[in-house]
Amino acid sequence: MAGIYIHIPFCKQACSYCDFHFSTKLTNKKSVLSAIEKELKLRSNYLGQELVDTIYLGGGTPSLLSEIELQSIFQTVLNNYTVSDHAEITLEANPDDLTKVKLQELKQTPINRLSIGVQSFFEEDLRFMNRAHNAKEAVTSIQNAKEVGFDNLSIDLIFGSQTTSNEMWQRNLSIFFDLGINHLSAYSLTVEEKTALAHNIAKGKVENIDDEKNYTQYLILQNAIKENGFEQYELSNYCIDESYSKHNTSYWQNKKYLGIGPSAHSFNGISRQWNVKNNALYTKAINEGNSYFEKEELSEIDRYHEYLITSLRTKWGVDVSKMDMLFSPSIVEHFNTKMFFVDKSLVDLSHDNLTVKSDNLFQSDEVVRQLMIDLKE
Ligand code: SF4
Repeated sequence: MAGIYIHIPFCKQACSYCDFHFSTKLTNKKSVLSAIEKELKLRSNYLGQELVDTIYLGGGTPSLLSEIELQSIFQTVLNNYTVSDHAEITLEANPDDLTKVKLQELKQTPINRLSIGVQSFFEEDLRFMNRAHNAKEAVTSIQNAKEVGFDNLSIDLIFGSQTTSNEMWQRNLSIFFDLGINHLSAYSLTVEEKTALAHNIAKGKVENIDDEKNYTQYLILQNAIKENGFEQYELSNYCIDESYSKHNTSYWQNKKYLGIGPSAHSFNGISRQWNVKNNALYTKAINEGNSYFEKEELSEIDRYHEYLITSLRTKWGVDVSKMDMLFSPSIVEHFNTKMFFVDKSLVDLSHDNLTVKSDNLFQSDEVVRQLMIDLKE
């Protein structure tokens, strides 16, 4: 089983905290989409014989695409890959795009899961983040999606913003639970280089992130999740009724994925590659048959470290019984020795799985550090 990620690099406006690759110039949308379809055809052998069981359109803002543009992409995927009849097909969408009419159009496509970038239900947070939607649209987009028949929904929320008090964060979570959505991705606001937020903090126009408030809001989140019967299955991901994001889970379980579009990453088990982060260069290179990506072969130690980083962020952790199927005896021996000394207040070991305790998931990096191979050793 494998996944396909397709990066749609356009947004209406730049959110103040965002460092993803996107352009607000929509004039070259047609040529970029054409290059994306060409890349889909060019790389049809990348996944070998693997059955594609997840397709994820992210960005950027894929909900900016019309039904015709989306259908064309899906048709190209179906013509060139073997896609499971039960594939999870997710579209990232912004609330301001999700009118009833738009949702009815989306319902005509193979999309069966929406991940909606709500971030907050409060006007002041949304203005601070320079989001394109308002608080009313945050709610109506979800109600519209449910009415039109999308029942596999996820929303993103951000905590720790300078404008978000603890009471507002608690209220954001209450609204989420009241709306009856089965999946939540909750992230703390982080300051990424070269963003408007970083610039405003450096200029003293905005205060820096308050780590203590961030942690308090993480604890509020953990409590609310437990009270409402949700389960944390990854550091930033929560769901009810085991409605895990299959696509993101496959990243954390080290499965193969093909990344299409500017800035998209791919992984085939032995190497990673990443496409150029520039729409014009990407389109030109694809059209002229030139190289448009960089590639890194992974050593076994790289693979071991990546496996620790991704799996220890999840509730499944490291499957100790399968280590010898994934790694050579020397790596397995290293892992077994280090596991013996790892800080037991942070981890659980049961049923052959080494997991970071749910209240300590935000410290998973520390557990990884204790299990890593020090190349100087
Ligand atoms: S809509 Fe998403 S991708 Fe676009 S700028 Fe905002 S956070 Fe970034």
